[in-house]
Amino acid sequence: MTRTVYVNGDYLPEEDAKVSVFDRSFLMADGVYEVTSVLGGKLIDFDGHLARLERSLGELDMQKPEAFDDLLEIHRELVRRNDLEDGMIYLQVSRGSAGDRDFIFPDPEEVKPTLVLFTQSKPGLADSPAAKTGIKVISIEDIRWGRRDIKTVQLLYPSMGKMMAIKAGCDDAWLVEDGFVTEGTSNNAYIVKDGKIITRQLSNDILHGITRAAVLRFAREAQMEVEERSFTLDEAKAADEAFITSASQFVMPVVEIDGVTLGDGAPGKVAPRLREIYLDESLKNAI
Ligand code: PLP
Repeated sequence: MTRTVYVNGDYLPEEDAKVSVFDRSFLMADGVYEVTSVLGGKLIDFDGHLARLERSLGELDMQKPEAFDDLLEIHRELVRRNDLEDGMIYLQVSRGSAGDRDFIFPDPEEVKPTLVLFTQSKPGLADSPAAKTGIKVISIEDIRWGRRDIKTVQLLYPSMGKMMAIKAGCDDAWLVEDGFVTEGTSNNAYIVKDGKIITRQLSNDILHGITRAAVLRFAREAQMEVEERSFTLDEAKAADEAFITSASQFVMPVVEIDGVTLGDGAPGKVAPRLREIYLDESLKNAI
């Protein structure tokens, strides 16, 4: 079945879904994005993703697409048209195409943003076998730009990081700056020590994960102790447990960092419990 893709107001077969070669996301990575999970045909944490999209646009002085207020409806229509049960909806807004290449932003009165959304089907997304075994990560230097709180499409280094991990026989990479872990290539990073959940505080150094916000809220509601502070790579290797969170991986245990096994090498108690709570609560609130 060919996918139906949304491009600037139209629902099109994927082979007809096109944007200009002059689009600024193509030439300058001048675009922002969101990924919202779909479980059982319903959207997870949609309001959080929409709020972060609005913030990303504001931080880059990019105008909202005209259809901004219809985004919930567009997400639902794509789920419907693509019979999406489990998977993700990818949304991208770029500063549009001025019909040429120029470092100067185009006049927003003349050039409208480009809005694209498409679905990715992942049957059984919440039953990932990796959640039972845990994943292995390597550490790499964090050489990304200084506004990681904005969810831009500049994903070359995170993509290279994942390739380095795969080459090393691992699943993902944790990014390290001045000895401290910032986050994963496409997820937030956590350790657990003596029952306490530790994750880096919010700043421009990391993406403010929507799953992170929900997981920390649920953890506190379940009387788990949470500390938002930077932690070193050495601390991580000596932790009892570690895990990552993201919209598409939910809560995923990490069982090895740079070849160092955490605990007994299997997911501990905290990460699987948080995964269960997150999935239960998110499904209850899915729209
Ligand atoms: N950190 C980075 C660098 C990411 O790319 C992502 C998601 O893509 C996250 C964290 C997790 O954010 P969320 O939970 O909103 O998916």
